[in-house]
Parts: sequence; structure tokens; C-alpha cells
Amino acid sequence: MALLTLKDIGKIYVSENNVTVGIRGVNLSFDRGEFVAITGKSGSGKSTLLNVISGMDSYEEGELFIEGAPTSHYLQPEWEDYREKYISFIFQDYNIIESLTVLQNVELALMYMEDPKERRKRALELLDRVGLSSHIRQKGSKLSGGQKQRTVIARALAKDSPIILADEPTGNLDSATSKEIISLLREVSKDKLLIVVTHNFEQVEDCATRHIRVFDGAVESDARLIPVSEVFEEEKPRLERSAPKSAKAKKKNLKKKDFKNGFLLGRTIFAAKPRLSFFLCLLMLIGTLGIFGVTALCGSMGDIFEPNYMFHHMDGRVVLTTQSGEVLSEEEWRALAEKHGAKSILRFDSLLDSYATTGILYHYDGYDRYISLNSVFGKDYGTPDVGTYPKEKNEILLYLPISCQPAFGKDTLLMETVEKGNLTLKVTGVKYYYDNNLTPECLFTEDGFRTATALHYLLDRSSFTATLSLQSEANGMAQTHVLYDISPSFDIPANKVYLSESMYREFAAQYPDYTLGMTMSAYYFEYNFNNYNEKPKELVFRKVLEPSQISSDPSYAGEYGQYSNTLIVSDDILVEMAETVLERSYRQVSFFFENDREARRAAEALREEGYIAVPSDTEYTPDPFSVIENMLACIFMGALWLIAVFFLAFFIHLCSVRSLGAFKGDMAIMRSMGIPVRVIRIGMYVRMMISLIPAFICLALSSVLIFTSPTFNQYFVYLYGWQYAAIVFGMILLTVRITRKQVRKLFCESVKKSLKGGNAQ
Ligand code: ADP
Ligand code: MG
Repeated sequence: MALLTLKDIGKIYVSENNVTVGIRGVNLSFDRGEFVAITGKSGSGKSTLLNVISGMDSYEEGELFIEGAPTSHYLQPEWEDYREKYISFIFQDYNIIESLTVLQNVELALMYMEDPKERRKRALELLDRVGLSSHIRQKGSKLSGGQKQRTVIARALAKDSPIILADEPTGNLDSATSKEIISLLREVSKDKLLIVVTHNFEQVEDCATRHIRVFDGAVESDARLIPVSEVFEEEKPRLERSAPKSAKAKKKNLKKKDFKNGFLLGRTIFAAKPRLSFFLCLLMLIGTLGIFGVTALCGSMGDIFEPNYMFHHMDGRVVLTTQSGEVLSEEEWRALAEKHGAKSILRFDSLLDSYATTGILYHYDGYDRYISLNSVFGKDYGTPDVGTYPKEKNEILLYLPISCQPAFGKDTLLMETVEKGNLTLKVTGVKYYYDNNLTPECLFTEDGFRTATALHYLLDRSSFTATLSLQSEANGMAQTHVLYDISPSFDIPANKVYLSESMYREFAAQYPDYTLGMTMSAYYFEYNFNNYNEKPKELVFRKVLEPSQISSDPSYAGEYGQYSNTLIVSDDILVEMAETVLERSYRQVSFFFENDREARRAAEALREEGYIAVPSDTEYTPDPFSVIENMLACIFMGALWLIAVFFLAFFIHLCSVRSLGAFKGDMAIMRSMGIPVRVIRIGMYVRMMISLIPAFICLALSSVLIFTSPTFNQYFVYLYGWQYAAIVFGMILLTVRITRKQVRKLFCESVKKSLKGGNAQ
């Protein structure tokens, strides 16, 4: 059976307004070992004939049989398979991939071999055969015409296909080189069917076994010059591509091999055009960091998912009150807490929920800055970055965003004291955090927290006035004076008050046998989380002080001036004062359980007993207007983000489409070589994915830097892990989309057309 048979083959070109006959009524049959020379005038259909045989162009009439099997029903993929199995093509204009080296060009054709070492060995062997051993590392673009054609021949041999087609292989070479190339071709393909189109028959005369003349698309003459048997002595065993396997196993194996080859191809083409690849990497980098930046800028669009906690959420915390609004005493609450298995209770807990009422003013970089803090106690942040945890009631640890580090110190505290409503707190340590979605906190000791609560209450919730009165049992009231300012201090001994010098002289010093009475009255509110009841101003606190408790130390009172109207009280008097008021008005309490689950369980039980109990992880629904407002803000941000991302994607798309044009020619060459489209496609994807790697490395690096470097954290935003994942996923998706579109565009054209287009430059 003949290897290749053409029966009544016809090919018509239909262009805009005319129909051209390429070839018509061609009846030919070819066998292994033949060296067929095809000659004819320009435009007579020689190339068309070769293109049809190679499957690079379709035919409309007749039938082409390969090893006896018809091919007229073949679709694109079948033709690809056909080319992969049977055809090697040698063109006039060399058709090597100029960006690859000689060796890479040949290795590309050896993809069917599994072992890369074997591949290399075989490629070197073949290059030796065509006399190119000394040029293997040279890029295609740097070769002479003859060298290029030798490379192509080596490549054609590498494929080890039974048919080698050559369309004017020497058309661009001088006559000496032409002869060499032709005899090389003949020598290396004695066991194959070699069809050479030439306009110069003399060049092939010595080797050709058959001469076909084509005229006006039809075969004019077909002459056998030498019997094939003379040159084709024995059929050499052909290279076995893969051991015959079951169809299924073969398919699976093929897929794996395709992936491996595609991967290799992707890597090779990525490395082959360093400038273009660099540009692509840069593009992806800009895209990725751009999306990263935009996501960071529009960070507040995620707020819509932030929970609206009713209270400051602390693991295990339950906030409760009585249904009637009755104010319970500390003992009563404790008994209830014990009954429900709470670990601890916090009688006056309002400070926990008063974010932004505590804050510190600090000076940095020429500006006064203020940072709001959550007031907390009994938390563990791990080892502080600077200093230690607080032990005394006037000590605090600050839990701050890393961006505060330059102002607060890295190794030593740059800020040792904080003024809080005249109360000077000592900063014992700082713990920094990198996640700018957290809130800064001020950690007190339990005692310190009580003081802070008292102060908060004193400053925000009531208006105290103190009345000082001198009284003697014998002589009655001597003098009364109203003081409007009460200032607490950690720096004076417990249970003492300080008067300004003039005040001291007026009161205590003049009447040593009198006692000083101090009474305070205040407006106060019945406080709990569901209502505020203002009570009329009334006397809430009375304290009688012994003369020994009163003094005037210029170093304390002095700063308020010697005629000052301010009474300085020790912090425990402050707490006593505040708690006396709170005691009778504060209707709320916090219980602390092991964890939130326990808290929810206990809250349930407490509710059954008639209390209003709310676990601190309870969310509330804000009023519809603020929900809408919030939603609109988020939607606006989201839209902004989408637009920005869309533009970035568009930009990347535009630029990378341009970059793909550069591959059009190479792709066509690879296809003409019979490299399966699957492999090329995988190669294209791999190449694009590789160009994403630097972008992802930079993204990872910047996320690590933001997490570890204070400087970076100050200037760049922190995103959640899922946001990073989304960026990475989005970029991959975008790349896949772009590549898919490009690949489709590339492969919808026929090989011949894209070859022409590709080589047009
Ligand atoms: P040769 O290779 O012998 O010079 P071709 O096979 O290239 O000739 O062309 C044969 C005929 O087919 C010519 O008339 C040519 O104009 C026509 N032809 C070839 N390719 C196309 C094409 N893509 N579209 C239209 N006509 C074509
Ligand atoms: Mg031609």
C-alpha cells in the first residue's frame, strides 16, 4: 500500500470577488524512500499541493489517503494529529524560531521523547549530522541562511516523521549552499518520503528519484528517474514513539506528557524573549500592586460585613440588668454571678463600652496627635514589645498600632506618662500590633480600671460640686465655701485632700480645732444600657475630714496656683465619691464566663430568671437610615474598586494582547512542526503564569513587610488574608481569560495563513 495517495484532489481559493484554482484533478501516489522533485512555473500550484499534503490547507475535492485511510472528514484537531504523526515541513524562508537557540529549536521537535536527557542527546546527534555542532547555543536570529536551513533539516529529522515536505528549501541560498543542503536532505532521509518543490531542477537532479511537473494547477508530467529500490535498500526500524497501550491509558499518558511538554515549552518561550517577558512581568506587577493599592484604598467597602456589636466584645462577657430597672448592690450581683458560674464580675462596666472617651495626646513629627483607646483590664497580649505589664493602679500598658512606634519607642518608652483628666498615668509598657483592623487599647490593672471608671464618670456623667465647711462641736459652723473643681491625683497619699495655699490659710490653719467637712452634690443619671433617667441634683456624698487629712503642699497645689479654687483629692477618694453615686444609680453589670459559648448559655439561663442579659458578641441592627447610609457608602466604595480594577484589567489586557502578536509567527511554526495545539496552548498559559510569579512574590513580600516592618506598616495598608487570596485569584483569572482569548484568536486561523502573517515582518 502506498504511503500517501491523492485522488482527484482539487483546491479552490475563494477571495472577495474571484475564485482561483490552486490545484485540480491531482492524482498521485507516493512511497517511502522516494525523493520527489516538483517543478513548475510560479503560481502553478506547487505550494498549494504541498500545503494540502501537509494538512496545513484544506482541500475541497477528491480524497487524500494516508496509509490507505481517507482524510476528507478530518477537522482541525485531526489535522493537528496528522501533522504531528506524519509531516515535517521545510520552508523557503527557514521557519525557525528566531528567539530560540539552535538546540532549543531542535529539541522542540523532540517533545515526544519522555526523558529530557535522551532528548538532549538525540538533538546533539542530529545537529552533528547536519554539521551544526559548533553552533548549538546560537540564537536563530544570528544564523546564516544555510545554517538556518540546516537547523530546520535537523528539526525535521528530529520529528522522525515518514514524510518530509520542502517548499523551495534553497530558494534563498546561493547555488553552492543549495547543493549542499539538497544532498544533506537526501542523505538524511533515505528511508523517508521526501517531496521537494523547486524552480531549479538542476540542483536536485543528482538525487531525485522522481520528477513531477505542475502546470496551471494540474500535473503535467510524472517521470521516475531512478528506481526507488536502488536507494531505498532496507526499511530501517523507525523510532518507536510509545509502546502500544490501551486507548485509555494512552490518553491519560498523553495528557500528562502534554502538560509536561507544555510546561517546558512555556518556560522556554518565556526565557527566549527576555525583553518581552520582562515587560509582561512588569505589567503584571503593576496590575497586581495596582489592585492591591485600590483594594487597600477602598478598604471601607468591607465594613458592610463588620459586625455591629452592642457592647465591647470580650470573650465570655455578658452584660445584664434587671427588668424593673431596680439597682442591685454589689453583693446581690455577686451572689447571682456565683449562682451562674461566672468567673468574675465588673460592677461598673460602662468604661468598657466607651471607646474614644479614653485617648492620649502625643506629640510626634511636629504635630500633636490624638489616639482613641479602648479601656480594658485583665487582657493578655503576649510579651510586650517595650517594658512590662502594669502592676499598680496608676500604671498602664498601651496596645498600639505599629505606626505609633516612632512616637512611642521601640526599645525604650519615649512616653512615660499620660495625662487623663488631671490624673497622671504611668506607661509601663507598649505592645504593638500590625493589623490595622484592630483597635488600640489602654490596659489597666483592675484597680486602675476602677479609678479610670470613676474619673470617666466624674467627668462625663455628673457635675460635682464640693462644699467645704468648717465645723466645731463647740462653736458650730465657722465658714462655708464651694469649690467647683475637684482634681484627683495618684501622687498624694491615700485618703488625703490638698488645698491651695490661700485656701488652706483661710480654713484649716486659722481654725485648728475645727473639722473640715466635705460634701458633694451632683446631678446623676440612673444608668443602664436601655435608659438614662436624670435625677434631680441631690446630695450624694458626704465625707468628714480630720485636720490631719488636709494639707497644702506647694509642690502639688502649687501648680494650680496658690489662690486656686481646686481641691486635689487622692485617687481613692475619687473612687469612693464616684462609686457612692454609681452605687445608687448604676443598674448594669458585666459577668465574665470562660468563653462566649458559656456566656451565651448563662445569658439564656439569666433571661429565664427575668433578667435582661446580653452576651457581648450580640449584634444589633442599626436604624434603617444608618443601614442604608452605610450600605450606600460601601456600594460606592465597591463600585470605585470595580471601576479601578476594570481599568487595570483592561490595561493589562491591551498590553498583553500586543505582546502576544510577537508570538504569532512562532506559534504558526510550532504548529507547522506538528507540535500539538494542546501543548502550545498549555505553553502559552504557562508563559503567562510565569510572568505572574514576580508580581505574586512582590505581593507576598509586601504583605510580609507590612506585617513585620514598622515603616512599611505605616505607609501601606494591611489587608486580610482572604483579600490577598482574592487578589491572587483575580489576577490568575484575568490572566487565564486573556490567554484564552489570545489562544483562541491564534488558533482560529489556519496554519498557512498565520505563517504568512507571522513572517510578513
Ligand atoms: P506556486 O507555489 O506554484 O507559485 P501557489 O500554489 O502558491 O503557486 O498558487 C497557486 C494559485 O493559487 C495561484 O494562482 C495563486 O494566486 C493562488 N493562491 C495561492 N494561495 C492563495 C490564497 N491564499 N488565496 C487566493 N489564491 C491563492
Ligand atoms: Mg510557491
